[in-house]
Parts: sequence; structure tokens; C-alpha cells
Amino acid sequence: MNQYILSIDAGTTSSRALIFDKKGNEIAKAQFEFKQHFPKEGWVEHDPLEIWSSQKKALQSAMSMHQISSLEIKGIGITNQRETTVVWEKDTGKPIYNAIVWQDRRTSEYCNELKEKGMEPLIMSKTGLLLDPYFSGTKIHWILENIEGARKKAQDGQLLFGTIDTWLIWNLTGGEKHITDPSNASRTLLYDIHKNKWDEELLKLFNIPFDMLPRVVQSVSNDAKAKLEDWESSIPICAIAGDQQAALFGQLCFTPGAVKNTYGTGCFSMMHTGQKAVKSKNKMLTTIAWQMNDEVEYALEGSVFIGGALIQWLRDGLDLVKDAAEIEHLALSVSDNGGVTFISALTGLGAPYWDPFAKGGILGLTRGTEKGHIARAALEAIAIRSMEIIVEMEKDSGIKFSTLKVDGGASRNNLLMQIQANLLNAKVIRPKITETTALGIAFMAGLGCGYWKDKASLKDLCEEEKSFTPQYSKSTNEMLKLWNHRIQKILSNESR
Ligand code: ADP
Repeated sequence: MNQYILSIDAGTTSSRALIFDKKGNEIAKAQFEFKQHFPKEGWVEHDPLEIWSSQKKALQSAMSMHQISSLEIKGIGITNQRETTVVWEKDTGKPIYNAIVWQDRRTSEYCNELKEKGMEPLIMSKTGLLLDPYFSGTKIHWILENIEGARKKAQDGQLLFGTIDTWLIWNLTGGEKHITDPSNASRTLLYDIHKNKWDEELLKLFNIPFDMLPRVVQSVSNDAKAKLEDWESSIPICAIAGDQQAALFGQLCFTPGAVKNTYGTGCFSMMHTGQKAVKSKNKMLTTIAWQMNDEVEYALEGSVFIGGALIQWLRDGLDLVKDAAEIEHLALSVSDNGGVTFISALTGLGAPYWDPFAKGGILGLTRGTEKGHIARAALEAIAIRSMEIIVEMEKDSGIKFSTLKVDGGASRNNLLMQIQANLLNAKVIRPKITETTALGIAFMAGLGCGYWKDKASLKDLCEEEKSFTPQYSKSTNEMLKLWNHRIQKILSNESR
């Protein structure tokens, strides 16, 4: 009988299921989108029941596509959009409110209140996170404060909290298991990443009863079995991890200093820092990468808000290109940026500037400026912003890195990848399978159930599609000089 690994990839806009074989080939994939709810300015919600039903449909479709039965699936891995918060009733399994999504900003004011009370340093030192609405803690607090009867029910032990991994596992096990893993727990503001446990002091601060929280199991473990009505047998759930952490694993970034960058709408960088939780001096996040074989491994994380979104804006806002892939061709129509700098601060600037009020700009225009120059400057901006956070992570960790693993939609752009290699003076490697999140959780699950022997054996499964070797050029230096000079002009007065 054939044996496979099933990945559940519960994303922000869609539920996906992928099946991998022993060689790491993707055998089947099914994906169903679900609705995004925007009830008010700055609020983003999902219907947890729709997440579950679309995820179940994806699982069933992927398996039936090639008539793969539950007996042929050796193990399941679950990876998910992180921080998104669900609270449901223990007895009925009914959510008491929609899932509050990581993007939701409704708890900004509450975060400010806590900051004014001077709570941020304590929270940062325990959790590795900033006090921001992004994370789950203040979202749970909001639900308990604002949904009628919730506070009382929570005190009576009738409510459960979970991030999406926990919610899915609870449903996959028919309400038997209420568990999560340290990579997800470390995004809640309630978890001490150094002690690897829920923190009583933080729970008190956010007024959240301990009994609501899931039990934390290792990221690679064997604590639950999934069973759907139409399956002949149950399947062990062998791995759980947040999406960025799973991608780090899928890029085989297992050793301190290994870095991946995902070029999607935004750019998400993560550096593995080994068994050491590195404190950032530059407001990068410190997070748990995963826990396996009783060892906790850590990572530094930094993100750039505008990555591929800059190309989207050139496409939709300026009609410069018809589709995103055309940008490369346009940028190659000129030999350099022609002195143009595109400061990509369309939604403020994150690390290392932290200027939410900064606005973007295209500077250095002359009568000789062509569309190609603007296209090129846009790609350079994406690469420079990624470089800036990667350099900060290097400084924080004190580890010099030599290769960058890349994935995400915009990583298909060869020119962008070459510019990135030149700027970092490091090799950039793009793998053949760019579904690194789903692959990463499949790898973890496969290690958990003995499908693959060890981490080293995974190397043979990951082929490089293309790599980019840094080339020194004077224009790279020139580009950076102009950037550093011109970005000062667009920073808001508040941060100058
Ligand atoms: P997400 O997961 O955030 O939706 P994807 O990984 O699907 O993002 O990547 C899509 C983003 O990448 C879009 O913002 C798009 O503009 C950009 N993109 C896609 N292809 C290219 C390309 N060839 N060159 C530059 N940007 C691209």
C-alpha cells in the first residue's frame, strides 16, 4: 500500500489540503476560499464554522482526487494563519463570536492603555512580542468583555480559546482534544517563551482564565487522532506549527543563522537562532520556531508591510503593467534605475524606522525618466526593505548568514532575486517546490510518524530551482546611497 503525508494549510483567505509522497512530491492539492468579514473600519473576522467546513471539504477533495483512503495517510500536519482567535462553548462546540483575525485592529486602544500603564517591557521580556492588537491576547480579552454572558461563562469553565490549529484539531477529533503547539502559543501574548508555558501573571493582566487555554504539546508529537465520518480509520496528527514557522522548516532552516524570506503581499523574514531566544534591539519579534524531541528552538522575525503589494499598486493604481510578472520585463528595458528611488512607505514604515506616519515617494525624476526606471526602482525598494530587516536580525543575533532561502509569489521575479543577492552579498536560493509552508508541516509530520528518518534525509527531497550569486556593481552602492539619503526626506516629523 502507498503511504502519504497530508498537510492542512489553514490560510487567511483559503483552506488548503496537500498530499505529499515519500520523495516530497505534491500528489494532490485542494483549496477553498472562505469569506472575509469587515464589520467596521479596522475589524476583520472569519466565520469559524466556515473555516472548519471549507477545511474539511479541502481534505476530502484532496484525498478523493486520487482515491487516497485514510489508511494510506501515515500522518497529518497542521499549519495555520497565526494569532487569529476563536472562542467557543465547551459543551456545544459553538463559537460565541466570529474569529477575530490577526489583521484586526479593534484592540488598539486597549493596547495603548496597557502601554501607558508601562506594561510593555514586562510583556516583551516574557513573550518576545510587542504589545500590539496583532496578537491573540487582547482579542480574547475583547470577546470576554464585549459578548454578553461571555465573562461569566469563562469563569464557570464553559468556554475554550484556540488559534486556528486548536479549533481545527478540536473539530477533527470530535471535541476530544484541546491542544496547540509552542509556535502558535508564542503568538498569544500569554506565553512565556523562555519557560515554555502559559504565564499566570500575563493571564491575570489580560483577565483570561487559565481553564480556557489549550494544553501545549510539542510541535512534532503524537497526541491526537483525526477522524472524519467517511474515513475507514483515524489518522494521527503528528505536527502543528504556525505558517511562518512551518515555512522556515520547509526551507530547511534548521541551524542558527539560516534565514528565509517570503515575498508575498508583504515580506516575511525569519532567522533560526537555535536554542537561544535572541532579544531584539530593533523591535523584531522573538518567537518559538518549534519544539521537537523535547527541545525548543527559537527564531527572530521581521516583516515589511509592502512587498509584492508595491507591484500590485503599480498594476492597479497606475496601470503601469497588466500583470505582476510583466514588471520584470519592464525593469529590464533599462540598464539601471536612472537615478530614481521609490520609497515604498505606502502604509508607513516598519523596522528599523517604525514610522507609522511616513508616506511613500518616487524621487529623482527627470525628463529622461522612463517607465522602466520606475519599475526597476520598485523592485529595488522591495529588496532594500527586505535587506534592512535581515541586516537588523543579523545584528541582533550576532550571526552572519551566507544564504537566503526565498519563496512567495514575487520570488519568481529573477531580477528581484538578483538585486537581493547583490544587496545582501549572499547567495539567494529558490527551491523547486515553493509551497514551503505546506511542505514544511508535511516534513514535520513525516518526521513525527517515522515516514522520514531524520532532518538530514529531508535535504535530498528539496531541489533547488535556481540560485542567484551576488555580483558586485557600483550601481548597487549608488542605489543604496540614494535610498539612505532620500528616505530621510519622507520620514514624518514625529520620527525624525
Ligand atoms: P500572498 O500570499 O500575500 O497573497 P503571494 O505569495 O501569492 O502573496 O504573492 C503575490 C504578490 O506577489 C502580489 O503582491 C504580486 O504583486 C506579487 N508578484 C507576483 N508575481 C510577481 C513578479 N513576477 N514580480 C514581482 N511581484 C510579483
